[in-house]
Amino acid sequence: MGIEFIYPEFEVIRNDKRCIACRVCERQCANEVHSYDEDNKIMLSDETKCVNCQRCVALCPTRALKIIKSDCQLRENANWQDDTIKEIYKQANSGGVLLSSMGNPKPMPVYWDKILINASQVTNPSIDPLREPMETKVFLGKKPSQVEKDENGQIICQLEPQLELSMPVMFSAMSYGSISYNAHKSLATAARHLGVLYNTGEGGLHEDFYCYGENTIVQVASGRFGVHKDYLEAGAAIEIKMGQGAKPGIGGHLPGTKIVGDVSRTRMIPEGSDAISPAPHHDIYSIEDLRQLVYSLKEATGYKKPIIVKVAAVHNIAAIASGIARSGADIIAIDGFRGGTGAAPTRIRDNVGIPIELALASVDKRLRDEGIRNNVSIVVGGSIRNAADIVKAIALGADACYIATAALLALGCHLCRTCQSGRCNWGIATQRPELVKRLNPEIGCERLVNLMNAWRHEIKELMGGMGINSIEALRGNRLMLRGIGLTDKELEILGISHAGE
Ligand code: SF4
Ligand code: SF4
Repeated sequence: MGIEFIYPEFEVIRNDKRCIACRVCERQCANEVHSYDEDNKIMLSDETKCVNCQRCVALCPTRALKIIKSDCQLRENANWQDDTIKEIYKQANSGGVLLSSMGNPKPMPVYWDKILINASQVTNPSIDPLREPMETKVFLGKKPSQVEKDENGQIICQLEPQLELSMPVMFSAMSYGSISYNAHKSLATAARHLGVLYNTGEGGLHEDFYCYGENTIVQVASGRFGVHKDYLEAGAAIEIKMGQGAKPGIGGHLPGTKIVGDVSRTRMIPEGSDAISPAPHHDIYSIEDLRQLVYSLKEATGYKKPIIVKVAAVHNIAAIASGIARSGADIIAIDGFRGGTGAAPTRIRDNVGIPIELALASVDKRLRDEGIRNNVSIVVGGSIRNAADIVKAIALGADACYIATAALLALGCHLCRTCQSGRCNWGIATQRPELVKRLNPEIGCERLVNLMNAWRHEIKELMGGMGINSIEALRGNRLMLRGIGLTDKELEILGISHAGE
C-alpha cells in the first residue's frame, strides 16, 4: 500500500445478524472477495477484488449481503473527477492501456429517449393486437425496386436470397471464446425456438452448433478464425465484420488464457495463443476490395446466402453505407457507439463513434436519396434496450435490430463490465468449467424466448396503437415519431418533427 493504493470502488456490507457463515458467497465468488476466518468463525471481505457482479447478493440465503458504491471520494473538482484521477493512477502504476467491457457507460445522449411514438385517436382507429392480425415477420435481403412481369404478364417472383425472421430482432455477434459454450447454446436454441438468428461472432462455429445452421449467421472477421468452407456453408447468412460499435477502427484481442480446449480447436489456433484480429482486413482497402470478398463468399456458397457487411457507426457512415450498398452486399449491419463488447480499450470505447440513432437516420436517408435503399436491408444495434427502441428504429428506417447486451442480461449478466477478466460469475463471459456450468442453457433459452415474446407483444401493442398492422408498414414511417428536447440540427438529421408540430 502507499502510492499505488486506490480505494476500492465498492463496499461489501454484511449484516452480521443475518449471516449464518454458510460460505455460499465464498464459493460463488470467482474474484475471491469472501473468505472464512476459522479462528474467529466469521466471514471476511476483500473489497479490493469486488467488481459488483451481485452474484453473492443474489445467492446469499439470508439476504445478508449488500454491495454499495464506496463514498470514499477524492476532493471534489469539476475538471478532475474521481474516475479520471483514478485512471491516471492506474496507468501510472501499470504503463498500460485501460481495458473494459460492455458498452459505453458515459452519460451521452440516448436519442431513443428523446423520440416519442404516435398513437391513433378518433379518425384513424387503432388496432387491437389481441383480436386482429398483426404481422411482425420480416425478410432481410435485396428487394426488387419495382414489380417486374414476364412476356406473359406474370409477375417475376425470383428474389435474391432472403433471411426470414418471425420478428425484427436477431442476436448479434458474440464469439465462442468471449462467451461460454452454455451462453452460445442458449442463444442458438432460443433463435431456433423464436424463428430468428444468432451470430457466431469471429470465433468460428463449434461442431455441436452446426445443427442450428438455419438460425445462424457465420461471421468472417479480419482474423479469419475458424473460417473454412463447411463453416461458410453451415450458416443461413455470412457476415463480414469490418467494424464494431464498441471499438471502431481497431481489431480484437482475446487473451490466450481464454483460448483453451474447444475454443482453440474451433478458432483453429493453438491453445494459449492470443487471438488477435488486425484492425483492417488486409485484403480490403476500398469498396472494390470489399466487393471482391462479398462475391468470393457468394461464389463459395453457390449464391444461396445473403451477405451482411457489419460496420461501426462513424462520422461518415452515410457515405460508407452507400459504398457497401453498391458492393453487392445484401444487408448492412450498423453498430452504434453504445454497443457492447467482451473487451475494448476504455478510451476507444468511450470516445470513438456516433450514436446509432443518428447513423441510422442518415444512412436510410442517403440510400433513399440515391435510389438504392432496396439494394440492401439495414440492421442496427448498439444498445437496443426494449421494444420501444425497436419500434423507433424501424420507424427511422431499420429493417431489423441486433441485440446482445439485452440478451446477456436475460441470461443473468449484471453488467459488472469485467468480461475481459474471464471470471464471469454468471457463467457467461468465461471459459472456466466451474463457472460455465452455472448457466443452464435450457433455462437460458427459456429466458431469452420469454424476453423476445414479451417484446413481440409490446411491439404489436405499439404498432396497433399507431393503427399500423405490419412491420413493413412501419419501416421508415418517420411521421410516427416526434422529437423532444432536441436541437433543430438533431431533428434535421433524425428527419422528424418536434413534439407539438
Ligand atoms: S452467503 Fe450470506 S449467509 Fe452465507 S456466508 Fe455469505 S453473507 Fe453469510
Ligand atoms: S457477462 Fe459476466 S463479466 Fe460480463 S458484464 Fe455480464 S456479469 Fe459481468
